[in-house]
Amino acid sequence: VVIDTSDHGESDRIVTFYTQATGKLVGIAKGAKRSKKRFLNRLEPFSLVEILYTPGRASDLVRVEQAELLSSYPSLRHHYPAFTAATVIARLVRDWSRENDPDPELFRLLLWSLDSMEEAADLRLVMVLFLAKLLTLSGYRPDLLSCRCSATLDVRFSPYHFSCQRKTLLCGRCTQGQEQSLVPVSLPTVKLLALACELPVDKLDRLHFNMASLREALTLLARYEQHLLQRENPAWKAFFQLHHQPRPCLR
Ligand SMILES: [Zn+2]
Repeated sequence: VVIDTSDHGESDRIVTFYTQATGKLVGIAKGAKRSKKRFLNRLEPFSLVEILYTPGRASDLVRVEQAELLSSYPSLRHHYPAFTAATVIARLVRDWSRENDPDPELFRLLLWSLDSMEEAADLRLVMVLFLAKLLTLSGYRPDLLSCRCSATLDVRFSPYHFSCQRKTLLCGRCTQGQEQSLVPVSLPTVKLLALACELPVDKLDRLHFNMASLREALTLLARYEQHLLQRENPAWKAFFQLHHQPRPCLR
């Protein structure tokens, strides 16, 4: 899947792929800007392609020799809301993956999210499920099963917050002082998010969030993800603007 492209010199393009076989792969497509027949429309963002490449010599860049288009996901390029969501997802995959480190489950997750958005699924729902699985696959599954003080979640111990710093849920009794990484979250949202982390990719479609839960879950996961990487994902800006939701900032 093409997750990033940029021009290089007069006629070449640098293309970042997330591949099934080797994880992230950065390549140079020589003449891609000029040669109309070799790469025409085949190295566009979000496209699913089969590529033939030769390893680079001195640098990590491989040389992309051929690309065959398997799916171009036209809606993701022509429908602006879907485009902004796909841009966030491509950026997340770029930030959370490494070269020579394949993860077939992440590849499946990426395809699932592109397919879902192409088929006009709720973009915020796809984003929430994608983030929950991405963080789980990356070893940063948020601990949403209990607060440290009690084995069970109980509405009497509300309000609950998620602590990005401690990667765990805190009940009203345990929420202390001015910790800046706290995100308020209700128990119904907690339960849905815990399920999203748990379910395999092919069963994610079973989950349904209401509007309030979607907003909460999105804020929580976007804050947590940016907290973990300690950098803001610039692609979020357009996405949150479109959904009339304040963008969670890094704190
Ligand atoms: Zn507690």
